Amino acid sequence: MKNGMIVHPGELSKKWIDRLADAGINTLGIHPEGGKDAPKSLERLLGLLRTPEYRALIDYARSRGLEVEYECHAAGYLMDRALFAEHPEYFRMNEAGDRIPDWNFCVSNEDALTLFAKRAAALALNLYGSSKNFYFWMDDGRGIHCQCPKCRALSPSDQQYIALRAALREIRKHIPEARLAYLAYIDTIQPPTIARSEDGLFLEYAPFEKYTAKGEDSAIRIERERGMIAPLLKYFGGEDAKVLEYWYDNSLFSNWKKPPARFSLNADAMSRDIRDYRAMGFDRISTFACFLGNDYEELYGEVDVMPFAKAFE
Ligand SMILES: [Zn+2]
Repeated sequence: MKNGMIVHPGELSKKWIDRLADAGINTLGIHPEGGKDAPKSLERLLGLLRTPEYRALIDYARSRGLEVEYECHAAGYLMDRALFAEHPEYFRMNEAGDRIPDWNFCVSNEDALTLFAKRAAALALNLYGSSKNFYFWMDDGRGIHCQCPKCRALSPSDQQYIALRAALREIRKHIPEARLAYLAYIDTIQPPTIARSEDGLFLEYAPFEKYTAKGEDSAIRIERERGMIAPLLKYFGGEDAKVLEYWYDNSLFSNWKKPPARFSLNADAMSRDIRDYRAMGFDRISTFACFLGNDYEELYGEVDVMPFAKAFE
């Protein structure tokens, strides 16, 4: 069983690494901030990964037995927006029928797909100390897929699948055992409709809407969640299937605005969720744990990760 916590790049410290390792948590996730500036935060992470100081931190995490994973919204970085002036056809068409370099790209354009895949391979090779599991998510949002005449018949899930399949083929030329996450959340929560071939993709399920759907009866929610997960597991299989949760996501609970809010854990709900996910066949479970770095500690003291570790006993 793999369990992990995910922090922002600037929050990583020796203390965080020791906290995870001492608790018996075995995976460290690093997540550059998402949203509109995701390409810039990924660039900043790559800058950090070139420094001896940050590499020493990653080495230290690995020496303490942690697997290191980088989880990022990568489409905006992988498809450079600066190409729009010369190649508008690489970019998505919005509902109004205009090509626009805001989010994602046109997966029916072969040149765009090739470029995206080659950049993905270069990115994989630059993620210092990474495990063989990669997380190059499409951009973050709803209704931000391509609606050109060729893509229109493809759902957001299909478009993500096509982009990732091409990326992983290219990554595997350099890292043969690489696997790539299909992120199921918001409008990619339905499995793709394209027939699946052996492609090295694994399911990563993120129940983001559990936290944004207010006032819903929890029994109804759980039934609805099971109804969403079953077809995904059927499509991708259970091997390496992963849950990306928010139990410790103090960035979400702070509405992504600093200073961080005081974090309080719903330990009962977390334990119940972990039991349910394991019963469904997930064998890897991570939670965001952002906005709990040094600035948080100065305000409120150190976060306790033991309830998360203990929920797996
Ligand atoms: Zn298109």
